[in-house]
Amino acid sequence: MLPLVALVGRPNVGKSTLFNALTRTRDALVHDQPGVTRDRHYGVCRPEGQRHFAVVDTGGIAGEDEGLVGATTRQARAAATEADLVLFIVDGREGASAMDDEILAWLRKSARPTVLVVNKTDGIDTGAALNEFARYGFRDVVATSSAHRQGIDDLIDEVVARLPEEGVAPELDTDPSRIRVAFIGRPNVGKSTLVNRLLGEERMIASDVPGTTRDSVAIDMERDGRLYRLIDTAGLRRKSRVDEAVEKFSIIKTLQAIEQCQVAVVMLDASEGVTDQDASVLGYALDAGRALVVAVNKWDGLTEYQRQQAEALLARKLGFVDWAEAVRISAKHGSGLRELFGAIHRAHASATREFSTSEITRAVEIAYESNPPPVVRGHIAKLRFAHPVASNPPTFAIHGNRLRTLSDTYKRYLENFFRKRFKLVGTPVRFVFKEGS
Ligand code: GDP
Ligand code: GDP
Repeated sequence: MLPLVALVGRPNVGKSTLFNALTRTRDALVHDQPGVTRDRHYGVCRPEGQRHFAVVDTGGIAGEDEGLVGATTRQARAAATEADLVLFIVDGREGASAMDDEILAWLRKSARPTVLVVNKTDGIDTGAALNEFARYGFRDVVATSSAHRQGIDDLIDEVVARLPEEGVAPELDTDPSRIRVAFIGRPNVGKSTLVNRLLGEERMIASDVPGTTRDSVAIDMERDGRLYRLIDTAGLRRKSRVDEAVEKFSIIKTLQAIEQCQVAVVMLDASEGVTDQDASVLGYALDAGRALVVAVNKWDGLTEYQRQQAEALLARKLGFVDWAEAVRISAKHGSGLRELFGAIHRAHASATREFSTSEITRAVEIAYESNPPPVVRGHIAKLRFAHPVASNPPTFAIHGNRLRTLSDTYKRYLENFFRKRFKLVGTPVRFVFKEGS
């Protein structure tokens, strides 16, 4: 399970700056794609070679402007009380304030494991800043400058060391015969209707996977002779009314499901087009590098004219994931499901395909020769050789010289070239550029 870390602190101490420092992906290309919107409050920190964790910026907890106390505060509190770890952020320049004291009192009551983060320690006496907060009595204290990315790696080490043991049933990750699928999307797009239909049809074969926690029940399913594990379907099967705080909180569930699946099926409501919230769910799946299928649901409810309009809108709004198949379905009537599962299979096969070093090097040679990168200040980047480094998503290392001069446009060209050459659908393709040989 993806653990949850909550950022708590009064306004202006640098929570959102820290949030960005923790959750910014290394892959700038992913971030720059037009059409992807991002929720400013939820993200995932993916430190290399270390455990990943979800981060929620609670905005604020106590002592806020009266007008703001309400939904936002309730939601922040809900997130903080459920968090595996709380980061209590304070301002090292301004020192402790009455509002910090209030938050501290609240944190003591909530009794979550907490690390004190003394931020904005750039250009000041860090020792003195830490001293100022010594009376708060925290054992775990980290000094940071979020704005300058100082202390962030130390903070990440501190966080990872304090997260609870991994509670996932080991078989969740190790059963190679099953494709792990998550149906995700904003509320009301039809996720539960679809899952219930799938399980209703397959009632005899569906069974809860033993050893999974109550929060993340996975269900095994067989369809057309193929085996699947549906991730995080607990909340989908038994639906109850939830208040606003809990509804918001389900973004964490979405992030966890994305983390555990191999193929993310992002569901949309055809009658509502692609909303910002849809685009942000897509963004999360992209950040995680998941194989992706878009299921455009409620297709049954549209007239022919509306369908044409919906098609045009989808083509425009989903341009940034044009490599993913978009399947029109009706969860209600069960139509389009054969196509949906076909797309899931194609995405999974592409994401997990194996490549040889020679075919990858050959592909780079051909891509390079047929369209060399432009000359930048009298120099031209050289791509020398390449090899596969990871699958799901397929990731390739390209060695060469002056690789820093490669433009995003050229990187996208390489990506598209690889997609075409190897007939990859429904999966991100990533490159790691290595200077020298
Ligand atoms: P939030 O209200 O807690 O989310 O705070 P923000 O992240 O919006 O930051 C508030 C202000 O502090 C902004 O002007 C930031 O640029 C600034 N800030 C954030 N982190 C640092 C830091 O590490 N050093 C300095 N000097 N300024 C910072
Ligand atoms: P969830 O919040 O994503 O799990 O959405 P639900 O499965 O609860 O569906 C929300 C509403 O959309 C319910 O009233 C469903 O009956 C309706 N709905 C779901 N799928 C379809 C569909 O394929 N066609 C139509 N017309 N309505 C649907």
